[in-house]
Amino acid sequence: MPENTPTDPTGEETSNEPAPGNSRWPRPTFETLVWRGLRLRCPRCGQGKLFCGIIKMNGACPHCHFKFERPPGFYLGSTYINYGLTAWITTAAFMIGRFRFNIPGSTLVWPLAAFCLIFPTLFFRHARSLWLVLDCQFDSSVLNEDPERQEMQD
Ligand SMILES: [Zn+2]
Repeated sequence: MPENTPTDPTGEETSNEPAPGNSRWPRPTFETLVWRGLRLRCPRCGQGKLFCGIIKMNGACPHCHFKFERPPGFYLGSTYINYGLTAWITTAAFMIGRFRFNIPGSTLVWPLAAFCLIFPTLFFRHARSLWLVLDCQFDSSVLNEDPERQEMQD
């Protein structure tokens, strides 16, 4: 079975819809999923926007109707991404500032504390998007979940 992923060398995503007569969506590569996640786009089609406001998420993709809405608590996992990245950057910045540039810890603490408040707030949407990407990567069956299509087939 031929791989049915976009191969445009410019990185621009071409149509990624199922082939005619085939109801299954092609499985994107992990790099494609991450790229879509960082652009806050639908992991399945790469076209629809994940968010319709600053914080408000679309219930489903406006393009392919992939469900973004998940059971309660699903997106709690995105806090691990957000917290992990914040902790990693803060630790690295402290180590570099303290031991490479010999800046006193008392000088570093306030800008890093501000970073710990601002960064997770700004990264909130991307953390959610990347959490959804991980779900699609490790359980690719969710990419083909389509309530409308399932009802038609039953
Ligand atoms: Zn979509």
